This record gives sequence, structure tokens and C-alpha cells, in this order.
Amino acid sequence: MILTIRPGTDKEKREAIVSAWYRQQLKIALPPLIEKWEAVMGVKVNRVFVQRMKTKWGSCHSSKHNIRINSELAQKPPACLEYVVVHELAHLLEPSHNKVFVSLMNQFMPQWRQLRDELNRIPLTHQEWKY
Ligand SMILES: [Zn+2]
Repeated sequence: MILTIRPGTDKEKREAIVSAWYRQQLKIALPPLIEKWEAVMGVKVNRVFVQRMKTKWGSCHSSKHNIRINSELAQKPPACLEYVVVHELAHLLEPSHNKVFVSLMNQFMPQWRQLRDELNRIPLTHQEWKY
């Protein structure tokens, strides 16, 4: 991707532009994914928020049925985004990361560990903006 900007645009502004683009990409990619996994897992998501987060890929407010997805996932393989969606939807069935949660993940996405490892190969805090 080539980002064309006016000379003198500061780092903060450049980051904001790229961040908005990532967010927009996920806003397009997420609805069909969520629809697919809602049907598979028998859950219903109320609202989906996409925002840049420093320390996590996603979060779930299980009692409100809202999920939050990190816009930085736009930089990752699509399978990793799907893993995060399944992980957050699984929290609608089991809020904590206990045995029940793990067995749900094993059931719905047997290869989840591989995708999680791929996702965390480059930790969020070590990612740098590539310009
Ligand atoms: Zn979790």
C-alpha cells in the first residue's frame, strides 16, 4: 500500500490515516465472519467495536454481548482475524479462559493454537509503523 500525504504531515497524522484505513478494512471484513460464526456457535452479538488497542487483539463484554476487535488485525492473515472472532464469540458462552472455554475453542476451531501463535509471533507492543 502506498500512502500519499502532503509534505509536512506529522507522524501522528500519518498514523491516524493508516489506523482509519485498517479500521475501515475490518469494518468490511467482520460482518460476514461474525454472521458465519454466530450461526455455527449459536450465539448473538449485539454490537461490534473496531478500535486500535495496544495490548490485546479483542475483548468481549459477555453480559452485553458486545465485542471489541483491534483494528491492527488488518495487518495479520485473515485466518488470525477469524480466530479472534471465534475467541470473542466463545466468551459469550464462557466468560473466562477455563477448561470449558478451551473445549469450546477445540470444538469450533481445532487449529486455534496455531493461529494464536501466529498472531503473537510479533507482539503488539513490538510492532512498529513501517514508514
Ligand atoms: Zn479471551
